[in-house]
Amino acid sequence: MELVLNDFVRLVLFSTLVCVAVFGAFSRFLHWRSERKLKRLVTVCRLCGHVFMNRNDTELVHCDACHALNLRNGNGKLG
Ligand SMILES: [Zn+2]
Repeated sequence: MELVLNDFVRLVLFSTLVCVAVFGAFSRFLHWRSERKLKRLVTVCRLCGHVFMNRNDTELVHCDACHALNLRNGNGKLG
């Protein structure tokens, strides 16, 4: 089989498209995973809005600024 210029260009374009799609999907997966991990660690105080890192596994955490109790995975509603 003889490779002509049209087939070669199609092959290069198609392989480039596949590479961009694969690397893009992989990059989005890594970004999603790091955001999920960061969301698990970061807590926003429901009273003062202070953002702090929480590395404990407890359900209730104390805010560093106002010492209020916050739920670890609170839904953001007051009360
Ligand atoms: Zn606070």
